[in-house]
Amino acid sequence: MNSIHKVAEYDVIISGAGPVGLFLACELALANCSVLILEKAENPSSPLKQQPFGIRGLSAPSLEALYRRGLLHELTLHKRLKNPHQHAGQGTRRQVGHFAGIPFHEGDIDTSHWTYRLPGSPPTSLLSEIEELETVLTHRAATLGVEIRRGVSVTNFHQTEHGVTVLSNGQSFHGKWLVGCDGSRSIVRKVGGFDFAGTEPNFTGYTTQIDLTNPETLKPGRNLTPTGMYLQSQSGYVMIQDFDGGAYHDSGKPITLDHVQAVLRRVSNTDVTINVLHRATTWTDRARQATAYRNGRVLVAGDAAHIHSPLGGQGLNLGLGDAMNLGWKLAATLQNRAPEGLLDSYQTERHPIGAQVLDWSRAQVAIMNPDPQSRALHAIFRDLMNTRDVATYMAARVWGVNTHYDLGGNHPLVGHSVPNFVFENGSTLGELMHDGLGILLDFEGVGSLKTLASAYSNSIKYLSGRANDQLGIKAVLVRPDGVVAWASSNARESYELLTALHNWFV
Ligand SMILES: Cc1cc2nc3c(=O)[nH]c(=O)nc-3n(C[C@H](O)[C@H](O)[C@H](O)COP(=O)(O)OP(=O)(O)OC[C@H]3O[C@@H](n4cnc5c(N)ncnc54)[C@H](O)[C@@H]3O)c2cc1C
Repeated sequence: MNSIHKVAEYDVIISGAGPVGLFLACELALANCSVLILEKAENPSSPLKQQPFGIRGLSAPSLEALYRRGLLHELTLHKRLKNPHQHAGQGTRRQVGHFAGIPFHEGDIDTSHWTYRLPGSPPTSLLSEIEELETVLTHRAATLGVEIRRGVSVTNFHQTEHGVTVLSNGQSFHGKWLVGCDGSRSIVRKVGGFDFAGTEPNFTGYTTQIDLTNPETLKPGRNLTPTGMYLQSQSGYVMIQDFDGGAYHDSGKPITLDHVQAVLRRVSNTDVTINVLHRATTWTDRARQATAYRNGRVLVAGDAAHIHSPLGGQGLNLGLGDAMNLGWKLAATLQNRAPEGLLDSYQTERHPIGAQVLDWSRAQVAIMNPDPQSRALHAIFRDLMNTRDVATYMAARVWGVNTHYDLGGNHPLVGHSVPNFVFENGSTLGELMHDGLGILLDFEGVGSLKTLASAYSNSIKYLSGRANDQLGIKAVLVRPDGVVAWASSNARESYELLTALHNWFV
């Protein structure tokens, strides 16, 4: 008698075990979805993921997301890192970020504008290493039961009304949904017919680790020159921007010592000599974004959905934000507890945020171009950066402090990240979000809100208790991704609260 092999069907298959795929998998598994990640690379470790190449700036929304899932404290490497962008000769004013290479300094930022950031909130920015982040997320995913198959490259897929069959060199896998988190050259995006619209590059960027025979020929720090920009750090890390229209990167030619030396000599206008080229990688300022993030049962997130230059370091943050936004919505959809349109709100909320980041990167390139007009604009920006308002604005943009979704609502907090309220017993709201549930937080302990929350017990929990600083708020409804769906300065049940519950939960 023939035995019948039941083919496993996963709730979600994710293509790519980069930080975005891993974080999304964790979010889905936290909500009890079965998840399979297929990852092309056999080995998760790579020198390009380790410092100095693998250093990434994490900003407020990412740090909050990791904190809310109990993962932030596991990123220990930043405590041992020196900022690789910090360079010799820098004065005592602490540079904490930049726009188009123009630094802004800690002392110039007026944080009193950030009314809802309470003391005890996660930091607004932190340098981290991609390999460590992936290790932490891989461990978390394994703990939650996510299956990761490495050395399995997604080559094709086809979807029906009911599911997706994913192909990889003779093997096939079945899922109800497929999410492409497979990076800038995403096969899921290509096979899925996602339109990837945007602008072509102006330059090839080089990140190199080199030994120089005559390092003193290069000026320390970030230097604009008639043909581009170079930045030399203390750790033998040199970054170059060569305004060649992205030609060298796109040519796919090898990055040899001779080539890097020729580019560095031309851009720096010196006779600098490279002794050893340890490592080098190239990138461009090509900026493209999928016009739709979903096609039937297939979605894209992270670099698969958007690419742009790493200026200002926002790509990883954008991708982690996609994952935090998508995870709970896809889980609710799979478990038939999603209000109508919930999954579509992934696109309506995340696409505009992605578009803003692409424009932020384009704006920087526009004033870094080595032409007289751009240089004139650059000089004006340099002056403006010394003003408190501009430094504060730049910091808020770079660190994502004001990132929010347009959810309507009467309270100014709606659509924003919920403040990290500290309760009288010392616990914080963020620490109470590890389970990934929504929260109806009631500072007043009003019985009717508790009853209301109990009707949504599959998706939200009711919390009551006084916080040290309640910011004039009496009750707040928080989505699983930490976004405020409703807030009120009086804790009464209202039409607006009922609408918010109805819009986000079943
Ligand atoms: C020089 C540089 C500096 C940067 N600095 C910052 C910074 O400071 N802050 C910041 O936020 N961002 C920064 N970024 C951007 C950031 O690194 C990326 O946006 C981020 O890594 C994207 O994560 P991801 O998971 O979407 O994609 P990736 O990290 O590219 O992961 C995709 C994964 O998919 C796998 N894969 C690919 N194809 C397939 C396939 N067919 N089948 C299965 N698996 C597949 C890949 O092997 C990979 O593991 C920087 C980028 C560069 C180049």
